[in-house]
Amino acid sequence: MSARIQLVQGDITELAVDAIVNAANNSLLGGGGVDGAIHRAAGIGLLEECRTLGGCPTGEAKITAGYKLKAKYVIHTVGPVYLNGDFNEDALLASCYRNSMALAAERGIRTIAFPAISTGVYGFPKERATRIAVREVVTALERHSGIERVTFVAFSERDYGVYEGVMAELSFKAG
Ligand code: ADP
Repeated sequence: MSARIQLVQGDITELAVDAIVNAANNSLLGGGGVDGAIHRAAGIGLLEECRTLGGCPTGEAKITAGYKLKAKYVIHTVGPVYLNGDFNEDALLASCYRNSMALAAERGIRTIAFPAISTGVYGFPKERATRIAVREVVTALERHSGIERVTFVAFSERDYGVYEGVMAELSFKAG
């Protein structure tokens, strides 16, 4: 696995990286889960800026300042709601990672952290989502040499294990 990829367990709102990624909804006006946590930690300025953005289509990404967060920026991306896998969910989730990485590179962001997009309320199976996340990030790092480090943030110990398993599986296949 790439030395530019790191895995941590914890709360993404506490990370001192250039940008944290938010698993937002189409309105970009806040919600539960990681979205709620990011808005609470960033303060009202984040919501005010989000109101000017006019929402975000599923699979795309938009950027704001980080306000009271340690992170300078928040990249808001909207993951798909998982139905049964027949509704383009894999491709939409892949574009969240791809578009977030492209936006980060465009803004000169060197360090970025991702939560497990769509794996909470949106119901994406965790292993399947994690494979997509890791594959897309590995590919994007090859394209964007200015991004020095990507941190995957697992919220629970169990999720941490899922990332560990997927990373081991992918580097085994790559090696
Ligand atoms: P979605 O609607 O995209 O499924 P959720 O916020 O419900 O978004 O969940 C996405 C993932 O974020 C889940 O794996 C959840 O455990 C995780 N999560 C929730 N709060 C935090 C947090 N503060 N830091 C990091 N990850 C979090």
